[in-house]
Order: sequence, then C-alpha cells, then structure tokens
Amino acid sequence: ELKIERVWKEYGNQIVLEDVSLTVASRAFVALVGPSGCGKSTFLRMLLGQEQPTKGKLLLDGEPLPPEPGPDRGVVFQRYSVFPHLTVLGNVLLGREFSAAPYRSKLFGAARRNAVEEAHRLIAEVGLAGSEGKYPAQLSGGMQQRLALAQALIMKPKVLLLDEPFGALDPGIRAEIHMLMKRLWHETQMTVVMVTHDMREAFTLANRVVAFERRRNRPEERERYGATITKDISIWPPRLAGQ
Ligand code: ATP
Ligand code: MG
Repeated sequence: ELKIERVWKEYGNQIVLEDVSLTVASRAFVALVGPSGCGKSTFLRMLLGQEQPTKGKLLLDGEPLPPEPGPDRGVVFQRYSVFPHLTVLGNVLLGREFSAAPYRSKLFGAARRNAVEEAHRLIAEVGLAGSEGKYPAQLSGGMQQRLALAQALIMKPKVLLLDEPFGALDPGIRAEIHMLMKRLWHETQMTVVMVTHDMREAFTLANRVVAFERRRNRPEERERYGATITKDISIWPPRLAGQ
C-alpha cells in the first residue's frame, strides 16, 4: 500500500501541491489527470524520491519511502528514459544493476548470467526480441517506450511510476502498447501510478482515476494556492481478484 499523507510541496513561495492525501492499494492502477502545470510530474518525482515534500508523509507498506530513488520503484518518462549510448540489452541490464544490492553495482559471474537471461526474457515479453544489439536511435518511439518498460520491470518494482509514457506515440502504436501494459500489470504484483493527459487512456488502463486541480482558479490567486485532489473515481473492478 502506498500512502500519501497531507503532503505539501512548495518551490520558494509558490505552492505546487496543497495538502494532498491519497492511499493507493497494492496492485492498484491509478491514473492521475489534471491541467498542465498543476503538479502531476512533481508529485510523481516525489514518489520516486527525486524530490522531497515540504510537509507531509510518504509511506510504502507502512514504512517511510526512502529519500532517494531505489529498486522498489521503477519509472518511465515520456521521453529520455533510456540511455542512447547503450544497446537494448545494455539498457535493460542497467535497470538490473541499479536494483542489485549494493545498489548501482556491476554484476559478475552467475549473477550476471542470470541477469542477462532475465533481460532477454523481458525484452521478448515487451516485443523487442531480435533488437537486443540495437541502440535506442535505431528504434521507433513505441519501441523505445517498450524498452523503457523492460528497463523498469527488471527491477521488479513494487511501484511503477509512469509520466505520460505513451503521450508522444501515434494512436495505433499507443493502442498496441496499452494492451502490453495491461498484460504486464495483470502478470505482476506491481502497483502503478500513471500521469496522463488522455482521458481515454486513463479509463482504458486504470482502475481508479484521480484528478488534481488548483484550489483557486482566479489567475491572481493561482500562484499562491497549490493543486489538490478534486475527483477520485473508482472503476470496476475496484480491485483485482484475489485481494
Ligand atoms: P504538465 O501536464 O505540463 O506536464 P505537471 O502537472 O506535470 O504539468 P509540474 O511539472 O509538476 O506540472 O509543475 C508544477 C509547477 O511546479 C509548475 O508551475 C512548475 O513551474 C513548478 N516546478 C516544477 N519543478 C520545479 C522546480 N524544480 N523548481 C521550481 N518550480 C518547479
Ligand atoms: Mg508533467
């Protein structure tokens, strides 16, 4: 369970998030929507550990979220999630190295052989078999996002954070990758929090849709008040079977 308790985020005297509370059940898929600039990415970076809240608590299964990104959380951004100078295989292995204890250590011997095997399995799972030796520049946008997913998944994250991961893709490609995303979510135990601008995407993938909005909408007040949750819609089934 991911618990966000009365969180505020301020940059200087600008309030970005104002008193946000949200409890996300394990294995839920939450879509986060809201107007541009309202603080969705800031919220996600906070869950990732790249930003600290000004006030409030972030708990994962009852424990405070570690203040830096760790293997319990995987992430895919809209662009630039993968490293251009590494091959497909190298990128996925990097995700594994990041999640190996001690974190960010190189893998050797049997650990490396296992990691390579797991990387190949995941590369096939996201539909990139045969592209192991290619570089990101040789892949289409959709393939790069599939690669970013494999890189995040090899960490076996408890929580997968997605910031408009499919926003730049053509509708046809997006539909394909939606099916992949749905399958991956059903096959794993992970909790997903996905920021999106696309309502259809939100309702296709998520079982809960949460909306952020500025507390005050008059332009002269916008700078002084942060965004908070204004709508929280559960979609059937509210939880996965077996819970
Ligand atoms: P979009 O839908 O356009 O991606 P968003 O909802 O993701 O927008 P954020 O990127 O989280 O919005 O930005 C929210 C607000 O916080 C913006 O006003 C932005 O300028 C401000 N902000 C974000 N990061 C920083 C930072 N590091 N320093 C100062 N202000 C910041
Ligand atoms: Mg954003």
